[in-house]
Amino acid sequence: MAGAGLVTSVAQQPQEYDTRLLELLSRELPADRLVVDWDVLAAIAHDEAAWAPVGRPAVALRATNEAEVQTAVRIAASIGSPVVTRGAGTGLSGGANAVDNCLILDLSRMRAIVEIDPANLVCVVEPGVVNNDLKATLAEQGLWYPPDPASAPWSTIGGNVATNAGGLCCLKYGVTRDYVLGLRAVVGGDAGYGTAVRLGRRTTKGVAGYDIAGLMVGSEGTLGVITEVTLRLRPALTGVPHTIVGAFDSLVSAGRAVALITQRGLTPSALELLDRTCLQAVEEWKHLGIEADAAALLLARVDTPGDAGEGEADSLATAFEAAGALWATRSTDAVEAEALFEARRLAYPALERLGPVLTEDICVPRSKVPDMLAMIEAIAAAHDVTIATIAHAGDGNLHPLMLAPVGDDDARVRAQLAFEEMLDGAIGFGGTVTAEHGVGLLKMAGLERELDPSSLIMQRAIKRALDPLNLFNPGKVF
Ligand SMILES: Cc1cc2nc3c(=O)[nH]c(=O)nc-3n(C[C@H](O)[C@H](O)[C@H](O)COP(=O)(O)OP(=O)(O)OC[C@H]3O[C@@H](n4cnc5c(N)ncnc54)[C@H](O)[C@@H]3O)c2cc1C
Repeated sequence: MAGAGLVTSVAQQPQEYDTRLLELLSRELPADRLVVDWDVLAAIAHDEAAWAPVGRPAVALRATNEAEVQTAVRIAASIGSPVVTRGAGTGLSGGANAVDNCLILDLSRMRAIVEIDPANLVCVVEPGVVNNDLKATLAEQGLWYPPDPASAPWSTIGGNVATNAGGLCCLKYGVTRDYVLGLRAVVGGDAGYGTAVRLGRRTTKGVAGYDIAGLMVGSEGTLGVITEVTLRLRPALTGVPHTIVGAFDSLVSAGRAVALITQRGLTPSALELLDRTCLQAVEEWKHLGIEADAAALLLARVDTPGDAGEGEADSLATAFEAAGALWATRSTDAVEAEALFEARRLAYPALERLGPVLTEDICVPRSKVPDMLAMIEAIAAAHDVTIATIAHAGDGNLHPLMLAPVGDDDARVRAQLAFEEMLDGAIGFGGTVTAEHGVGLLKMAGLERELDPSSLIMQRAIKRALDPLNLFNPGKVF
């Protein structure tokens, strides 16, 4: 996924750029870890966010251990060079985009699974481990790490922690934050730039001191570099889950079903929404055999075993019908069920094939999902923008995807206006501008509109205290 994105606007390599950083790094680090080739640098200078600005990196370090990260941060601090950390570069907010003359710290080679402790349901991993690789290794021991962003085949645990990634099963099992017990990080500030520190714990409970590990979760590379993570695990699920599908003649009626499911206290392990545009794009690409004969589909999954699970599945189908579904069915065919969830996971790359995709990531209280979906349709019409919508609907987390033909500047500007209007809409409904993708570059203005001004002051004070040189991912988030 990394490097396959839409951002091709990396500025030309400047005629003159700061060579001191490279000189100093070369003295202390093996040459094969340093990247100066401009084409390679350009490929790793951005994430997957459309139209987010990309600066000109001076050099990249493909670190293989924490000591190399420490050396690099110490050297960068000594001459004030910015440090932009990246995992797989699947981010959708520009968080991993280079800033001018920065050091790109690429951690994708730090992919050791350091320890699996089945007795305590804990594992310790390096940040470059890919989410699905960790899941596969744990499954061999009957263990499970639940957070499952749709990017799990590519995205790294370090990136997931730094963005507090969500995913499909987070409705029932929680987000990345709920699984991070502790971590190691290379930090700066009073601790000294380049210092490696252990934060958090590996016990089930613990309140010794401020929760600085928790602060690092979702900090988007702005407070330091995460070099190791201790994760809470669960026993692997057994049994075949139930899949319940509802087809709706409008997005809003699908939204009503989401609100009703919440109101009735039902907690499926996933409740995802896909509109017709997404279904068609996936079908044209992958030919999974899914007919896009409705305006929107809701896909629910129930993993409760036994009669209780049967009952929950029935209740979900009943709720779909009560909300006005064209039809609702329980799939007993595991292959068909997997195809539907595969379509959900593939929706974003399927649309990306058609042109630039500006991804929204708003979250509203679940009772407001129908209102927000209606507003998205109104904004699309008002700005003449094609919007395809996928959603972790059960969480109230909506991803309207704004499509624009390649090179059509008018369409880009209209999409960007629609994007900002949706942020205001979400805030107005008591929601947030970003549920899981992070602020990065794309949500900086929205963040200021959302947060209480005094909260913003406290957030900036934390950044100043922990990174007074503004070395770590400067110009992002705030
Ligand atoms: C097809 C697709 C589907 C997606 N689905 C989801 C989804 O369902 N849920 C979801 O939450 N997100 C989703 N995303 C967004 C993205 O995959 C997540 O944000 C993911 O957590 C990013 O991981 P990464 O390794 O690619 O990080 P990167 O994109 O490389 O970096 C993300 C941010 O984390 C920082 N960072 C990375 N590693 C470290 C580290 N070790 N220490 C400090 N900072 C670090 C970077 O500086 C940057 O700010 C999706 C993206 C795509 C392309």
